[in-house]
Amino acid sequence: MWGTSAHPCPYCDGFEHRGERLAVLAAGARGEHLAILLRQWSDDVVLLSNGPHDLAAHELAHVHALGIPIIKTPVVALDGDGTGRLRRVRLDNGETLDRDALFFYVGWRLRNDVARTLGCRLSDDGSVAVDSGQATTVDRVYAAGNCVEPRALVPTAAGSGVTAAVAINTRLSFEDADRHQHPPELRGRRPRSRRLPHHGARFRGPLTRTIARGAMSMESTRAPCGRIGSYRAAPAGGDRAGSS
Ligand SMILES: Cc1cc2nc3c(=O)[nH]c(=O)nc-3n(C[C@H](O)[C@H](O)[C@H](O)COP(=O)(O)OP(=O)(O)OC[C@H]3O[C@@H](n4cnc5c(N)ncnc54)[C@H](O)[C@@H]3O)c2cc1C
Repeated sequence: MWGTSAHPCPYCDGFEHRGERLAVLAAGARGEHLAILLRQWSDDVVLLSNGPHDLAAHELAHVHALGIPIIKTPVVALDGDGTGRLRRVRLDNGETLDRDALFFYVGWRLRNDVARTLGCRLSDDGSVAVDSGQATTVDRVYAAGNCVEPRALVPTAAGSGVTAAVAINTRLSFEDADRHQHPPELRGRRPRSRRLPHHGARFRGPLTRTIARGAMSMESTRAPCGRIGSYRAAPAGGDRAGSS
């Protein structure tokens, strides 16, 4: 039923279930949130709190004001029709409730392991902290999408990816332009170290070494042939996108 008639997001899948018999499986503020949003799409929304509803007084008042019944009896099973369509919810007391779709909250966790390993600063909710060009607090590491904004849907996530791409490309282009300005006697020399410039010391461990190698090759292929003479440190606290 997952993705067909059981969903976590009313903005992603609410429209497709407009006018249907809907159930919300969640307690507390999340239950109130889902029930109120889904009430826009259907007059028949039931809140299944699967135990105590844990609604604060003002949340309960909202739910009551919109005429949304609350069932506290634990849910034991969901019956479908074999095609992924929900047909009924089975409750612990033997009763059943005919429903066409279920929206639920079971919690979520951001997959921020890579950013954490690289030493990027995280916000309180675990998302990766970035500036307006999607640059993290670790130089040459950019982040976009849900790991930066957990509430982002596809257009927003993709948009932040474009912002990051523009910032990275601008920066690399200006670094190439800087290399063209090197004195002729330095041209053709190989860099003394294959370590990433400026921040090599931050890259440790197998995973980060792989990422560092990727960044190195990206930088090398971007540089004009034979002109990778030296690297110049980005201005401290300056615009990392390198725009003038
Ligand atoms: C059930 C569901 C339904 C949704 N429906 C809609 C919808 O209808 N419309 C809409 O606009 N949005 C919808 N969304 C939201 C949408 O999916 C996200 O906004 C979007 O996918 C975010 O894109 P992203 O690239 O940031 O992250 P993701 O699409 O999650 O991509 C991140 C990728 O990184 C990979 N990854 C993570 N950690 C590691 C690691 N350590 N190593 C290697 N790979 C890793 C993951 O496996 C994943 O493939 C829905 C989300 C869910 C969960």
